[in-house]
Parts: sequence; C-alpha cells; structure tokens
Amino acid sequence: MSDERVTNWAGNIVFEARRLHRPTTVEQVQELVAGGGPVKVLGSGHSFNRMADTTGDLISLAGLPRIFQVGPYHNSVRVDGGIRYGELVALLHAEGLALHNTASLPHISVAGAIATATHGSGETNGNLATAVSAIELVRGDGKLVTLRRDADGDAFLGAVVGLGALGVVTALTLDVVPAFELRQYVYDDLPRAAIDNDLQTLLADGYSVSLFTNWKGPDVNMAWLKRRDALPDGDWHGARRADAPRHPVPGMPAQNSTDQSGEPGPWHTRLPHFRLEFTPSSGEELQSEYHVPRARALEAIDAVAAIGAHVSPVLQICELRTIAADDLWLSPNYQRDTFALHFTWIADTDAVLPVVARLEEALAPLDARPHWGKVFTTAPATIRGQYERFADFAALAREYDPQGVFRNPWLNALLD
Ligand SMILES: Cc1cc2nc3c(=O)[nH]c(=O)nc-3n(C[C@H](O)[C@H](O)[C@H](O)COP(=O)(O)OP(=O)(O)OC[C@H]3O[C@@H](n4cnc5c(N)ncnc54)[C@H](O)[C@@H]3O)c2cc1C
Repeated sequence: MSDERVTNWAGNIVFEARRLHRPTTVEQVQELVAGGGPVKVLGSGHSFNRMADTTGDLISLAGLPRIFQVGPYHNSVRVDGGIRYGELVALLHAEGLALHNTASLPHISVAGAIATATHGSGETNGNLATAVSAIELVRGDGKLVTLRRDADGDAFLGAVVGLGALGVVTALTLDVVPAFELRQYVYDDLPRAAIDNDLQTLLADGYSVSLFTNWKGPDVNMAWLKRRDALPDGDWHGARRADAPRHPVPGMPAQNSTDQSGEPGPWHTRLPHFRLEFTPSSGEELQSEYHVPRARALEAIDAVAAIGAHVSPVLQICELRTIAADDLWLSPNYQRDTFALHFTWIADTDAVLPVVARLEEALAPLDARPHWGKVFTTAPATIRGQYERFADFAALAREYDPQGVFRNPWLNALLD
C-alpha cells in the first residue's frame, strides 16, 4: 500500500485515490473489496478518461502471481488479471501459439484492454475481448466467481466488456491459435480516388489494414498492411511503397515501430505498430475514437473531411481501422461490422475538447459509438441509446455490485 501520486499514462488524469494497493494474492484482493470500497482497479493506466479513477482505493494487480496455463487442447490459455500483452505474447509464441490480434501497442494490460473492448484491425478480426472464453472476477461482496462463454450465456456476454463495473478481474481464459507469420508493408500517399472507388476492398486487403491521415488534404498519408501473403513490388492502389520505415505519428522515430520490410515474421512482431521496448505512439497526446457501421465508412470519411480544417490543427494523426461484429453487450462492435476512426490529438485538453465535440456532432448521424477508454463528450443518455443491451448491463452491474463498491462518478453518470 502507498500514498504516491498516480497519473494515467498520458498524464492528463491525476487519480484522486487515497491509496494505491498492490495485492500479491487473490485473497488480498477479496479482502480489499469486501472492505466496502469504493475501489477501482488500475490496469496499465492507458485510458484517457476518469473511468479508472476513485476517491477510495486503487488496486494494481501487477503484483499478482503470473498465471500462464495453456489448455489441454492447445487452443486456450488462462492468464492472471495483471499480465500485460507484451509479456503474454512472448510466452504464447514460445509455446507455438498466438492471439488472433493485438492492439497497436503491447504495453497494455490484458484485463484493462478487455474491459474497454480494445481492438486492432482486420475485417474478420473481432476486438480483443472476443478472445475471452472465461472470466474470473471478485464481485462487490468479495466473492470470487467464474463466468464461462459455454455455460453462462447472457451474464458472460454482459460481463466481458465490463468497464470495471462488475468486479475485479483476477484471471481470464483466452482463445489462442497456432502461431503464424505475417508481413508488414507500408505505402505512402494513397489517392482519395482509391478511397472513393475501392474503400472496402482496400480495408480487406490484408489480415489487418490501417490507413493513416492528417485530414490536411484529400489523400490518405499512409497505408499499413499486415498480410500472410507477399505483395508484388510496385504501387498499391496508387500508393507508393514507403522508401524507409515509418512511424504512424509524423516526426517520431521509425525505430519505435515494428518491421515493415515485407519479410515474414512472427505474428507478435508484426501485429502491433509499436515495439514493446519503446514508447508507443507519440507519448505526448490525447486520444479519441469512434466506431461506425462499416458499410457507412465512406460517409464517415466525408463527414470528417468536411471539418478537416478544424480537426487537423489539434491532430497528430488519425488511424482508420476495421473490426468484426461480436455479441458482447457493451462492445462498440456489438452486432455490427465496424469502421473505427481513431484520433491521436495534441496533449492540450482545452484545445482538443471543442474539436472532439464538433467531431461527435459530425459523426452523430452515423451512430458513432465512442471507445470507452478514450476522450469523448458524447452524452451518457446518447450512449445508453446506442447499446441494445445497456439496461441489461446496468442490471447486471447492480447484481454483481449491489453496494456500488466499484462505482465512481464516471460510471454513475453512464449507468444511472
Ligand atoms: C499509446 C496508446 C495506444 C493505444 N492503442 C489502442 C489500440 O490500438 N486499440 C484500442 O482499442 N485502444 C488503444 N488504446 C487504448 C487502450 O487500449 C485502453 O485504454 C485500455 O483500456 C488500456 O488498458 P489498461 O490496462 O491501461 O486500462 P486502464 O486504463 O488501467 O483501465 C481501463 C478500465 O478497465 C478497468 N480495469 C482494468 N483492469 C481491470 C481488472 N483487472 N478488473 C476489472 N477492471 C479493470 C479500470 O478500472 C478502468 O475502468 C491505446 C492507448 C494508448 C495510451
């Protein structure tokens, strides 16, 4: 236990917690929760809003004993609630196993990423929470329960993207696949005409495809393709193969990025954009992201392009990705194939917030669901209306946490 001052990764949130605990056993977690709260878990602190904040006690699970148990059929792995992807992917690869996808960075905790439906890209790839087949959590009364995909139906579907509202996730079982290789290619200057004529084809032309743009002009600045098969030399839909490695954020060192040579390499060295041993992204930033129906991707691009003059002055880079539909109640990809527009802003909240509001207005006709872990100003009532099972989720949260041990102002505004 300590009383150190704790901030999130971006430094835009100073947590109000009176203490930070680092339990080393699940029993200690149960005791902390049974004390009545309020408590919140701090994962790796990579969220940009106050969802992890509390005036009570913060709990870091980083000190829990590492769990890494490969299932009997080599298609699942059970991990503890404190492990980060960077550590997990190396352990999996050593066993000849892989995750179906990763986020842009390996630095984040698995449980925290899953609680917010963190995702990578790929038209057939679900977000990272879709890999979960069982979740072990300490409820508001301190009791440890397990929810399984194959046995607990609705409660499981409601609990996985749980926003920290149902309990402390102390372990997770994830689907895994045999390790595979990917090649990464980066292209510069994708003409707007290619977007107009072929957007869905471009987004599907790889295991994972990301387009990066600064909205300063009509063209897309870069396309990052992660593919199983080699691409021929030459242009890609009018974009030129990059003449040197790139970083997604202009001006940042390319050595921080994963290999872009087009040579095959292990999945975990190609799927993230950023290498574990370096600062991901720019390090000085805020982020927002909006999920719209994939079929309306071009409309979303037009909507942002129309306010590009407002967006670009506070933007470092924008990334466009795809995510497959799922059935997790609070997943922004719930029952809809998704096109996601991600914004890496400058680290200036006062300058960024008005632009975020304007962007949300522009994307509102497209039913844009904000990423739970990023900066957004969308009204809670609007968000509640975006999720068919929202009322069921609120009821599930009350069932698992009747005394409001895990509540904070962020959750109260959303749920009540
Ligand atoms: C540089 C950078 C790049 C990013 N790239 C991507 C990306 O590619 N794709 C994407 O989708 N997102 C991305 N994000 C967002 C990030 O993935 C999410 O914010 C994610 O939640 C981070 O995990 P975390 O462990 O840091 O969560 P935290 O911010 O620590 O916590 C998030 C929420 O989860 C809860 N929580 C955490 N652990 C537990 C637990 N064990 N039990 C119960 N509740 C828990 C917390 O209480 C909080 O409510 C990025 C963020 C950064 C800073």
